[in-house]
Amino acid sequence: MVTFPRPEGFVQSLRQRRRALPQGTPLVVVEGSTDRSALFPYLVDTAQVVPASGKDHVLRAFDELEDHLRAETVFIVDCDGGIEDRYKGSRELVITTNRDIEADILFELNALPRLALDVLAGRANNPSSVQALADDALSQAATLATFIGLVHSAAIALTLPTKVIGANGRRQKFRLTDLAELHHRVQTNGLRDAEAVANAVAPLVGWDTDDVNAVSAKAAASAQQPCAEHGRRGCSQCLRRAYCNGHQLVDALGAVFATRHGVRMTRPELERAVRLAADPTRVPAWKVAERVRDWGVAVGIQILR
Ligand SMILES: [Zn+2]
Repeated sequence: MVTFPRPEGFVQSLRQRRRALPQGTPLVVVEGSTDRSALFPYLVDTAQVVPASGKDHVLRAFDELEDHLRAETVFIVDCDGGIEDRYKGSRELVITTNRDIEADILFELNALPRLALDVLAGRANNPSSVQALADDALSQAATLATFIGLVHSAAIALTLPTKVIGANGRRQKFRLTDLAELHHRVQTNGLRDAEAVANAVAPLVGWDTDDVNAVSAKAAASAQQPCAEHGRRGCSQCLRRAYCNGHQLVDALGAVFATRHGVRMTRPELERAVRLAADPTRVPAWKVAERVRDWGVAVGIQILR
């Protein structure tokens, strides 16, 4: 993948790309290549999807692309980490409902329950038992991914380090799969609160005891904030929407499948299974699809399949 260390490099490449495209060709700018693969099944064949290197690059391009080049360009960003108010309400800037596009597909397109049912179908003899296993796996995975998200956000707010060296040798945000003894911890339900997650993450990122305590307290306080939608403390639905990102959730589900059910799937297998499990009949009601379609109608382009 081409990477753009400087945002201006990305804006410049986008200008060139836009100029080279025939009129009437929709250009969709997304944060990364995972978003691109996640969106492909829903877009018309002529759509060009360009991954940036993160939200900053997308927003910079949104700010700087000249009017004559942006008429047929739509930008999609994740709602994780918040978006400045000035970006809200622009027709050609679409913000996900959940933390990222992957999480939108998992939840808004119902991919997660359908995937769990499919993977666990062979683990019990009647549909209601399979349903119970799937519900249980989903709930465990969502809890795990939510705590990872809460701990990560707390650490960022406290300006503590959160990067680890990933399998590709690059520094990246810690992931569930980086945790030592992950399977043992899932087996024993050993990651069910912010402190347990902070303790598990600490050796990876170099936090000392004070750091762990500060992160745990901040994460626990965030979890106890009454949610805006229902006014409930510890509202699992709103916490999941605010803190669960798609890849952490897929990682968590993979760990639960492997540890609890003996079903081992590689990361690419899981990602593919998620895409296949997405329910196409729910696309029209998916907010991102609705906004992208409305944008297309306004500029006179068909963009969704
Ligand atoms: Zn709520």
